[in-house]
Amino acid sequence: MPCGGVNHKISHEIIISLLVEGVPLIMNLCRLCRKKRELRDSHIIPEFCYKPLYDPKHRMAKLNIESRNKKLLQKGIREKLLCADCEQHLNKEYETPFCNFWFKKSTLPKKLPYEPFIISGIDHQKFKLFHLSLLFRAGVSTLKEFEEVSLGPHEEKLRLMLLSNQLETSSFYNIGAVHIGK
Ligand SMILES: [Zn+2]
Repeated sequence: MPCGGVNHKISHEIIISLLVEGVPLIMNLCRLCRKKRELRDSHIIPEFCYKPLYDPKHRMAKLNIESRNKKLLQKGIREKLLCADCEQHLNKEYETPFCNFWFKKSTLPKKLPYEPFIISGIDHQKFKLFHLSLLFRAGVSTLKEFEEVSLGPHEEKLRLMLLSNQLETSSFYNIGAVHIGK
């Protein structure tokens, strides 16, 4: 029975991992490099983006619009998606440069004017790939929160761009932003 054989093989692998590492370990495909690796609890949206949402006890409210239920979270939404190398790659190439430019340098004026204004000094490629990395993670996520995000053929395009640090010039992904004030 082919199905039974496959299940047996997977179980065997897990048992071997348990014996070698001494901790529960389930190998799976990393969504970015597509290698069989131990997956981390990866943020879909980086933790630093949640910072303004936390109260003094480091809690934020997650609202379910349908049921109107409120749940308190102490960390951003995560899922086992990426291996350690890919997490480090995204962090080093996109998240840290974006966080430094956008938050630590206080790039935006404290009070946003109603008129359009120009922000200069952006590393365009990293800035755009950072945002596309969030879209990619939301697209490959199996969580209910992101079930409406389906990228089709763009998923593979984004994956290759993120791995190579190169924006594909023939693809145009426009990015818009909305400021939500207090
Ligand atoms: Zn990986």
